[in-house]
Amino acid sequence: MFLIEDLHIKILDKCPDIKQLKTIHCKLITANNLASASHIALKLMKAYSDCRQITLTRQLFDQMPQKDVVFLNVMIRSYVNNKLYNQALNMYKTMLRLNIIPDHFTIPQVLKACSGSGCLRVGLQTHVAVFNKGLHSNVYVGNGLITMYAKCDRLVDARQVFDEMPSRDVVSWNSLVAAYAQNGMFCDALEVCRTMVEGSGLKPDAGTMASLSPAVTCSTKSENLMFMKEMFMSHTRDSLVSWNVMIAVYVSNEMPADAVNLYLQMESCGVDPDSITVASMLPACGDLSALTLGRKIHEYVKRRRLVPNLTVENALIDMYAKCGSLNDARKVFDEMPRRDVVSWTSMISAYGMTGDGQTALTVFADMQQSGLTPDSISFVPVLSACSHAGLLDQGKRFFKQMTDEYKIVPRLEHLACMVDLLGRSGRINEAYEFIKNMKMEPNDRIWGALLSACKLHSNMDIGLIAADRLFKSVPEQAGYYVLLSNIYAKAGRWKDVTAIRSMMKVKGVKKEPGVSNVELNNQVHSFLAGDQSHPQSKQIYEELDVIVGKMRELGYVPETDSALHDIEDEDKGNHLAVHSEKLAIVFVIINTEPFTPIRITKNLRVCEDCHIAAKLISKIVEREIILRDTNRFHHFKSGFCSCGDYW
Ligand code: ZN
Ligand code: ZN
Repeated sequence: MFLIEDLHIKILDKCPDIKQLKTIHCKLITANNLASASHIALKLMKAYSDCRQITLTRQLFDQMPQKDVVFLNVMIRSYVNNKLYNQALNMYKTMLRLNIIPDHFTIPQVLKACSGSGCLRVGLQTHVAVFNKGLHSNVYVGNGLITMYAKCDRLVDARQVFDEMPSRDVVSWNSLVAAYAQNGMFCDALEVCRTMVEGSGLKPDAGTMASLSPAVTCSTKSENLMFMKEMFMSHTRDSLVSWNVMIAVYVSNEMPADAVNLYLQMESCGVDPDSITVASMLPACGDLSALTLGRKIHEYVKRRRLVPNLTVENALIDMYAKCGSLNDARKVFDEMPRRDVVSWTSMISAYGMTGDGQTALTVFADMQQSGLTPDSISFVPVLSACSHAGLLDQGKRFFKQMTDEYKIVPRLEHLACMVDLLGRSGRINEAYEFIKNMKMEPNDRIWGALLSACKLHSNMDIGLIAADRLFKSVPEQAGYYVLLSNIYAKAGRWKDVTAIRSMMKVKGVKKEPGVSNVELNNQVHSFLAGDQSHPQSKQIYEELDVIVGKMRELGYVPETDSALHDIEDEDKGNHLAVHSEKLAIVFVIINTEPFTPIRITKNLRVCEDCHIAAKLISKIVEREIILRDTNRFHHFKSGFCSCGDYW
């Protein structure tokens, strides 16, 4: 008889399911009311709590006539484990009221409840109690205090606790690293992490690695990245979490090509990606226009039934949109059982980027119809769609709707869109007035939009004002010098063009090298201007010469005027200033079947010469060329571009 009961009690320790648990509970009650024996009651409470049956846990607790510190500890822990932090703190208050003295099991749980609820007041009281009871040398208590202070934004106190701990374990170190990282103090976080690894030979755990992943963006970038890589290599590489972290590190640091490589490595190691991997890989595919890989991941998502999942589906829309495959984006969108504001916003932005402003606005209207309220973020692609499609009046109307009807305070992104909209439409004075009337300090994107408009419409007076602001606020950005020199060149003021060049030299301004990426056979190929490093380089230049010959027959005159033609550095070799997108286009032409579309991503704005060239090439080779630059999509077909030469 008793043997069977023993067996039941053993099952309780193994976290049974709720049905099994209730059966055992009944049996224990019928067997001489064993359930009321305190050691069994405690086990039952723990088991119910593990099954997330907190009400039943509490019932058992209330039924016990004698409640000692152990019972209260179990009840507090049950609340904490079920994230019911306020109830946990109330139970702690009850404990103090009953004059039951908290022990070293109680304190860490109370501190967890303080961290979870952000209750600094009880946290501080607990710290005092810890001191009075001499529990401050206990490592669990110390770790709890570090996390509590960090969650309550008291990093100095967290650090002091850490420094004063007589002994620390791996959790103490991880807690401090996470404390800094979660508060955005990545340099400190990395420094502590380094001390931990080099000084104590301990390793950051997966959670800490994850909290550190945005750290690589802080000032000493390459050094931090190296450190993260080392950490990754030293972790068990068959753990999915560390692959996910490292992929996220690359993606958040705008290194999509490295993310793709790591993903392929992960696949070859036989590690199966999950929805987290997929959600960080899809933006990388989008950034690189790696449509083939993106499609492959989509297939995997379907096979593994990772959808419906809003994050994944939204990432899919975004990936297809960035790869210029609007139909696929729309298909994912149409098949979603549920859509949130992000899904709609992605779809609006997809149409906007390709210059189909009207459809973008229709989708926006549908979203409002569906009952969702547009937020501040969803107005950005709406306004930018108006600007890309030259829909001045509608853009103005939406801006008014946003501020008046939805009471959304415009942010710098919205204001930049408006300046762009007015400027592109030739309303340079109005755009300048708009900036002057802004309630916040205009940033460089806003002045940049004005300067671009001045270049487009040859407005030298206001262009100079904008340039002046930009040279003061972002003196290192080469693009703005180039824009101004183009304005001068258009006006024939060559002396000023030369003056800008020497100004750039004096200030040591370096132009960002232009890079074009293209995906072929699951691999991303990158080209720089005048690049001769590709194995097929010779073939590419030969074919380019042939194509340029055909372009000349159609009236193409290469843009040789350097002032108009240096969004990126010129190559001094045989092939004068061959921009990367031309090389990428030719590379695809010689490596794919006729009529295959050509998809290219470029890290800078496409220049006028390349734009003309791409139009002509699309006609000569009868292929669609989809080129995404920093601003938008250019969809070249039969000699025309979707942007209508307005970009
Ligand atoms: Zn170019
Ligand atoms: Zn275009």
